[in-house]
Amino acid sequence: MVDPVIHAAEIARFYAQVVRGPEPDDCWIFTGPIGGDGYGRFWIRREAGKRIMLRSNRYALAVSLKGAPLEPWVYGLHGCDVPICVRCSTADERGIKHLTEGTQRENMERMGRMGRGGGRRPIQRGRAGLLERRERSVALRDAVRGGWDAEAVRAALAGTAHPTLW
Ligand SMILES: [Zn+2]
Repeated sequence: MVDPVIHAAEIARFYAQVVRGPEPDDCWIFTGPIGGDGYGRFWIRREAGKRIMLRSNRYALAVSLKGAPLEPWVYGLHGCDVPICVRCSTADERGIKHLTEGTQRENMERMGRMGRGGGRRPIQRGRAGLLERRERSVALRDAVRGGWDAEAVRAALAGTAHPTLW
């Protein structure tokens, strides 16, 4: 649960790490740490000062609920297929969704349609696919570190940029 008042400083800390594209359909890119799964990492403190690690997309979804709890079974689905995108869009009139709520089943169906995890491109499953996704996330983060660079973003999304791994 992320309360807009109680957790205002935490929310500000999160969005200080987000670079928003200037176009109406651009992603909002999380520029903080990226995990081995290619998703952003954000740490928060809750009861008894315990540190909790969240994926950046889950945190953004929780913020969008304005104090209502984000249930554990709710998945963050990306219409843009950019794991580090944190732009919530539940009802985009053009149907271009960035980050929205969904179930695990919807997630599997989407992955199947896109040929990931659905058996069409088995090489994309497992470790190779994870590495590829992480490299793409890192390349994209690099592309916006100094502010939004449309050319660099396009190259990173196309997978033509050479990522620096660290
Ligand atoms: Zn996006």
